[in-house]
Amino acid sequence: MALEETRIALAHGNGGHYMRELIEDVFAGALSDGVLDTQTDACPLPPLPDGEVVVSTDGFTVQPLEFPGGDIGSLAVHGTTNDLAVSGATPLYLTLNCFIEEGLEIDLLRRLVGSLARAAREIGVQVAAGDTKVLRHGEGGGLYLATTGIGVRPRSLQLGVNRVRAGDRILVSGPVGDHGIAVMLAREQFGLRGQLFSDAASVLSLTQAIVALPGLRFMRDPTRGGLATVAHEIARATRTSVRLSESAIPIRDAVRSVCEMLGYDPLYLACEGRVVAVVAPEQADEALAVWQALPGGREAAMIGHVEAEGRAVVMETELGGRRILEELQDDPLPRIC
Ligand code: MG
Repeated sequence: MALEETRIALAHGNGGHYMRELIEDVFAGALSDGVLDTQTDACPLPPLPDGEVVVSTDGFTVQPLEFPGGDIGSLAVHGTTNDLAVSGATPLYLTLNCFIEEGLEIDLLRRLVGSLARAAREIGVQVAAGDTKVLRHGEGGGLYLATTGIGVRPRSLQLGVNRVRAGDRILVSGPVGDHGIAVMLAREQFGLRGQLFSDAASVLSLTQAIVALPGLRFMRDPTRGGLATVAHEIARATRTSVRLSESAIPIRDAVRSVCEMLGYDPLYLACEGRVVAVVAPEQADEALAVWQALPGGREAAMIGHVEAEGRAVVMETELGGRRILEELQDDPLPRIC
């Protein structure tokens, strides 16, 4: 059987020697510096550090596979480990499932796996197990990934949306909307090209820097549904209302212009490298200063507070008015994560 050597074929998923070669060539080389053993069915993990073990999983279908500021490989690491990080954990291990479409260029796959491996290494996470499947041409968007992450957090940690109280302050670690707009522009379907980069990144340094503050109540990464959706989650779970100040929310000018042009609201667009934190009022300034001193938090801002009355998300506008931010209905931008 002759295979075109530069593209994925169905035979790369048949369990035979083409699959073995692909795994050895593309995956084992990039990921073998940790506990991963491609020869075994189940990989033993070293004893975990003391603490509460937490697990999180996520799937990734972003189009295009590479976009300004990131790609599906690094996103598959950051997306899952950021969920562990905002829960107060240190991510330690990942599993990786790859669904590869027949016809995908092997060089592109190699680049994406390399990016994934680099992202994992940078935050000290090891890929411990993996699987590849090949989908027939037309059945997949080039590459889908799914990662499951394992992390450990201190047993004494008290973090959760149920700890949010009226009077608490709301912080965001940087500008919102970058990821959604950067990915959308990378599709070129609007003929717009900007100098916009996704914010996709690990938030681990941000979460670790404030996790020990006793006044920290809750953290979440504003991914799908964006900042407005996190605000709704807080309001709904705690029967409070969330007041946001329009002038305090960091949004890049370029994001604002594209949103105005195309009718998007940046508050509903996914970020992939930001954290929203709710902090007791007496420690909010300290938390903000800690973030602003970090490379990933220079543009962090205090953007609102929690109020006892009502259960709405209310925006105080720059002109001094108020508007209700409704809960998201449609997906404004499908397949951006
Ligand atoms: Mg999350």
